[in-house]
Amino acid sequence: MEKTQKDALENPLEKYPKPPYPKQQQSFPGLASKMDPLPDHGEDSYVGSNRLRGRKALITGGDSGIGRAAAIAYAREGADVAINYLPEEESDAQEVIALIEEAGQKGYAIPGDITDERFCEDLVKQAVKNLGGLDILVNNAGRQQASESIADISSYSFDATMKTNVYAPFWITRAALEHLKAGSVIIATTSVQAYDPAGILFDYAQTKAANVAYVKSLSKQLGSKGIRVNGVSPGPIWTPLQICGGQPPEAIPQFGEMSELKRAGQPAELAGIFVLLASNEGSYATGQIYGAAGGMGHP
Ligand code: NAD
Ligand code: MG
Repeated sequence: MEKTQKDALENPLEKYPKPPYPKQQQSFPGLASKMDPLPDHGEDSYVGSNRLRGRKALITGGDSGIGRAAAIAYAREGADVAINYLPEEESDAQEVIALIEEAGQKGYAIPGDITDERFCEDLVKQAVKNLGGLDILVNNAGRQQASESIADISSYSFDATMKTNVYAPFWITRAALEHLKAGSVIIATTSVQAYDPAGILFDYAQTKAANVAYVKSLSKQLGSKGIRVNGVSPGPIWTPLQICGGQPPEAIPQFGEMSELKRAGQPAELAGIFVLLASNEGSYATGQIYGAAGGMGHP
């Protein structure tokens, strides 16, 4: 079926399912395909217009949630896309590869654990080999585990969150740099938690603040090379991250209710920002953080 742009006004309050959501839990890292309601990654709605024709993108956490919405949009805009994810997420990843191919582009599935420095280097090598180069790098994978008290955060868990959210983007970016030419872009997924942290996300919030500083600092290093570095700062979005320990289980039914739009956002509602930041139309944006948080947090 040909996808056409919707021209009717859409009320953001009524556009998507609202709280209360069904109570649900999965073990980490979780599958989008098992969520209720299913998240909207733009499968039936995103319409491309060749804004990324011929580009080669690597997206970490591209199997589900925000990364999947970016992967679908990039493919429909004409990019070939490699996605990274954990082996347990193979079924979600294969759905994304099928959607990329349906858009007429090449999709590459590269499973592996980015808390491992060697794997991060290998991931970039595999992506560059498969894609025939690299000009869009999206550091989007993330780990979030809620904890009422700092006393309950184990060193293992703190370390895993730091490795996934802070070390991996460093390792992946360092390895990718030699492949990025002028006009290439790097995009990080940060969070409202960087600006207005919840008490229960003590470790995670610090990593998301680090992601903001990554954008602000790296954009200064790479500006003179013509490589732009920006970030996306989502509010509460309906993704597996949240139902695998990202929120306390009892908080899931009311997830997103505190936003001005009184609901969780959907991954599809962020796709346009990822496209803008990657495309030539965003050519004067570097060192910026673009928010989509239903009226919460900064920026
Ligand atoms: P998600 O669960 O769909 O995506 C996160 C992905 O990270 C997983 O799919 C997984 O593939 C990947 N990942 C985690 N640990 C990994 C590891 N060790 N090795 C390889 N891959 C690993 O959830 P999402 O909400 O779409 O998360 C994407 C990004 O959005 C994260 O950086 C998260 O911090 C950020 N974010 C999410 C929200 C939200 O409310 N969902 C809000 C603000 C920011
Ligand atoms: Mg996933």
